[in-house]
Amino acid sequence: MENIYELTLEDWKQWMRDHEQPAYRATQLYEWLWKRDAKEISGMQNLPLPLREMLEREFRMPQIKVVERQESADGSVKYALRLEDGQQVESVLIPSRERSTVCISSQAGCPLGCRFCATAHLGFKRHLTAYEMYAQVALARSESMQLYGHALSNIVWMGMGEPLLNFDAVKSAVGRVTAADGMAMSPSRITVSTSGICPGIRRMAKEMPSVNLAVSLHSADDLQRRELMPVGKKYLLTDLSDALSAYHESTGNRITIEYMLMDKVNDTMRHAELLLKFCRRFPVKVNIIEYNPHPYAPYRPSAAGREAAFVRMLEDKNLIVNIRRSKGRDIAAACGQLVNLRRPQ
Ligand code: SAH
Ligand code: SF4
Repeated sequence: MENIYELTLEDWKQWMRDHEQPAYRATQLYEWLWKRDAKEISGMQNLPLPLREMLEREFRMPQIKVVERQESADGSVKYALRLEDGQQVESVLIPSRERSTVCISSQAGCPLGCRFCATAHLGFKRHLTAYEMYAQVALARSESMQLYGHALSNIVWMGMGEPLLNFDAVKSAVGRVTAADGMAMSPSRITVSTSGICPGIRRMAKEMPSVNLAVSLHSADDLQRRELMPVGKKYLLTDLSDALSAYHESTGNRITIEYMLMDKVNDTMRHAELLLKFCRRFPVKVNIIEYNPHPYAPYRPSAAGREAAFVRMLEDKNLIVNIRRSKGRDIAAACGQLVNLRRPQ
């Protein structure tokens, strides 16, 4: 049986023609799938019974299952999700005043092996489909309403995996989330975070220019970055800088630079100077991320004094800096942690 979520609207129109159904049935079915978030074919009441039966014979409707749900004292909720083939991924719903953000996964595991990342420890299992990413958003949307009484406002691709290595599926999921006949969310509320996949950054400029881009830099010292993030060997900082510069020229977007502070690793004044230098070519906003400790890496978050000095140095040079405190520490919300902890060792 085919996966019902893999057909486009055009495919459905063709399918309806082939099955001697009027074309508007394609739109009705599509709305059930992508707007009304239907869970089974039998509940699609405006489709005639024989059509529903035909669909049930030909298509399966895989759902993602919540296998674990952990609420943090700070209000964020982490979901461990099981996919159709048994793979597990995570998403985290994070409330703040009047809005809520979901952090979603793009791959089961990740092939890039960053030294500080719990997801890296899982290795790479597979890419997620567009539907599997969309479904994480749909879950967060209904949970946000139930838990906090307000709509989901932002989506960040900062869960497990490297979204720009799964570009086509991410693009298709963004399409469904933003479509007028889908969730109709604004692309300016969506951020894709990358470890610095340069061809993907160039594609984002062309194919998703209204979606925000965040880059996990974590060190502007090329040698150290290559150590911490092996992807830095393939795309050197000069390549990354060129790609970001071209991205800014083409989109006009301000780029978010993510910089996670690890104690006595990347938090010296020399590191701050290198970061300042890296940020000179294009307008940026720097998110200083508090390192979330976990058993799969030896690092610690920067001591308060070191963090303050680092931030002051950037602000003195007029960079826009936000400090992102680690949310959900009590629920192992560092990406990849929950799945790692659940997995038999
Ligand atoms: N692969 C993409 C997106 C997923 S990782 C990327 O690397 O950008 C999302 C963010 O979480 C990245 O900035 C990553 O560096 C960061 N991260 C990884 N491990 C972390 C940890 N232990 N504590 C805090 N942030 C972490
Ligand atoms: Fe992959 Fe991002 Fe983790 Fe690096 S930080 S291993 S790119 S998920």
